[in-house]
Amino acid sequence: MDINQPTLSHVKGIIEPPLTDMTIGEALSNAAIRWPDRAALVVPHQAIRWTYNDLNLQVDALTVGLLELGLKRGDRVGIWSPNRAEWVVTQLATARAGLILVTINPAYHSAEVALALSLSTCRALVFASQFKRSDYLGIIDKLFPDFARRGGKDLDFLIQLDGPTLPGAVKYQDLLDNGRAIINKSPKYVAAELSSSDAVNIQFTSGTTGTPKGATLTHRNILNNAIFVARHIGLAEQDRLCLPVPLYHCFGMVMGTLACLSTGAALILSGESFEAQTVLKTIENERCTALYGVPTMFVAVLEHPTFSIFDLTSLRTGIMAGAPCPVEVMNRVIADMRMREVTICYGMTETSPVSFQSTADADIETRTSTVGFIHPHIEAKVIDQNGLTVPRGHSGELLVRGYSVMAGYWGASAQTAEVIDPDGWMHTGDLAIIDAKGRARIVGRSKDMIIRGGENIYPAEIENYLLRHPDISEVAVFGLPDERLGEEVCAWIKTRSLIDEDAVRKFCDGHIAHFKIPRHIRFVDFFPMTVTGKIQKFEMRARMRDELGRIEQSTT
Ligand code: AMP
Repeated sequence: MDINQPTLSHVKGIIEPPLTDMTIGEALSNAAIRWPDRAALVVPHQAIRWTYNDLNLQVDALTVGLLELGLKRGDRVGIWSPNRAEWVVTQLATARAGLILVTINPAYHSAEVALALSLSTCRALVFASQFKRSDYLGIIDKLFPDFARRGGKDLDFLIQLDGPTLPGAVKYQDLLDNGRAIINKSPKYVAAELSSSDAVNIQFTSGTTGTPKGATLTHRNILNNAIFVARHIGLAEQDRLCLPVPLYHCFGMVMGTLACLSTGAALILSGESFEAQTVLKTIENERCTALYGVPTMFVAVLEHPTFSIFDLTSLRTGIMAGAPCPVEVMNRVIADMRMREVTICYGMTETSPVSFQSTADADIETRTSTVGFIHPHIEAKVIDQNGLTVPRGHSGELLVRGYSVMAGYWGASAQTAEVIDPDGWMHTGDLAIIDAKGRARIVGRSKDMIIRGGENIYPAEIENYLLRHPDISEVAVFGLPDERLGEEVCAWIKTRSLIDEDAVRKFCDGHIAHFKIPRHIRFVDFFPMTVTGKIQKFEMRARMRDELGRIEQSTT
């Protein structure tokens, strides 16, 4: 660690090894040459076990299939599906074809999907027919009625993974078969020359404004970030990573897929979505050596009634990230799950995502009570309200600069300029303290985002939605500590005429994602305000905490 300013909260990572300028397609080709027979992707719920050679062939076929459809370099392709093998193949094939993958949260509902597709003007959407209670097929049919005849505005292609095919949609399997047939005839089929600075991925985050924005990430951003994440946990070709986090988020597709690809490790998808017992079973059956999760997933696994009957002795390392990580949970992960080399990461989508991470060999205190040290080739500082760097040990807003900072929000240069300043610093909106050793602790958020079970929720988005209800005049949404999920959504509502909690929930059901629907609702006559008229959500939070007897956990 090279600490430029030992008294100020400004740290720079080492600059070795050098950054790579490979594209993701090239990284996959390398993996297939170096580890052709090593397990690459295992998906027990689809009975899939592919080596790097198998995966490379699948990706080649889909790459050609997508290009043959008429998709061109730089076109956006959405994906709306839970964790399945096709997700990984689509991720890698779009990258190899020079397309930009727009990842859509599987828990989204129609309005959110429509917005993501239109903001990024997707030309194609790859989708599963259903997930849990959500009938994706029905939703797509309603969003693009009579698609075969009328198309879907900018959307030219619907690519369906399974289920009865919608009129006008293309079957994923047909694309693969077509691609394979073309390659067999002309094995030298090549896609356009790509550059590592090309955009490869758009992920939606809503920021404090409640308007979704697409963080645009390049090959260079995410491949390098994955390589350094993998190095920190010592991931190597003999490792087997159990991945229960969703692929649509960078925790899955960067720290999972790409970290494995760059080291020859096997990626094992434990299920379509997180389920504690399936994770336990997968670790035992597949002899997994590493496990990722947001804190609430680790809590659910540790507290599952069948926890003690599973053999977890194969586990060595892993990552807990995405939300404040309780020290107590980290200790239990090390002691009870035997993940003696587990690390914590801190980051955000806009920074590829990881900026700080503890190493597998760091002392226990660093690994349980801080988010570790700055990553290589990245710089971070903590500033006060006047923009001045604070002394070590003082809190302020965390800023990050380096190769990892996104290219910008898709088609939203003004919003990009609000978070990336002219010197290239990304203003994270997180409050941090950097200590004398250069380790960071995340102590709060200046943005009022809620993190429920690892899902980021932007209060303004829910507030704007609830205000559409004719009987609601004002709303304030905020997070409340919750033992199981980390935080839960709470709404204080002023009404025009009498309504009850059921009416509010019914209004949300099927229109916004289930995790955004307020768990606690209070009807009030006034909100606590500052003298300047700002709603004091911390005051509401304190009152609700007292009423419900909730306590904050100590975290990293
Ligand atoms: P996302 O863009 O979905 O990756 O969410 C990023 C946000 O998650 C950050 O800005 C933080 O507020 C929060 N976050 C991520 N990792 C951590 C961590 N280890 N500790 C505390 N908060 C975290």
